[in-house]
Amino acid sequence: MAGGVEENIMPETKLLAHLKAKGYKLTQQRQQIMDVLLQGKTRLTAQEIFRQLKERNLSVSLDTVYRNLRLLTAIGIVQQISLQSGAVYELVQEEHHHHLVCVDCEKIVCISSCPAMQAYLKDADDATGFDILGHNLELYGRCDDCRNKKTNSHA
Ligand SMILES: [Zn+2]
Ligand SMILES: [Zn+2]
Ligand SMILES: [Zn+2]
Repeated sequence: MAGGVEENIMPETKLLAHLKAKGYKLTQQRQQIMDVLLQGKTRLTAQEIFRQLKERNLSVSLDTVYRNLRLLTAIGIVQQISLQSGAVYELVQEEHHHHLVCVDCEKIVCISSCPAMQAYLKDADDATGFDILGHNLELYGRCDDCRNKKTNSHA
């Protein structure tokens, strides 16, 4: 487990409790990554997060950013959304959820339901011996705007 300075300046969210409940420490880097995502109010790539941490004078490597994002994603604090152009990250402020991604314009829409059934997850960890922490799922399609554009250009 990575060391680091423990800080207690996270805003009043469920995130800290969540992290602790899963047995992880809120290191300064994790806290800063969550804060960057919170302030950004948008989804960011690992590179963008890295750049913003640098702007905050934090000495981190891109590697560390990726490692922390992977952990935060695994335990459900951050959601990774895979796009053709790369992955973006979103802070989970409410419930765990999934995303629709437009294959043309890469618009992302949150969908509140989750199709993963407890029985399925339990079978998977029984079969593999994994302690499954989280999962990720994107649905790909074409958004309304892009669909209309397509229809019009053919008219
Ligand atoms: Zn679109
Ligand atoms: Zn979302
Ligand atoms: Zn889910």
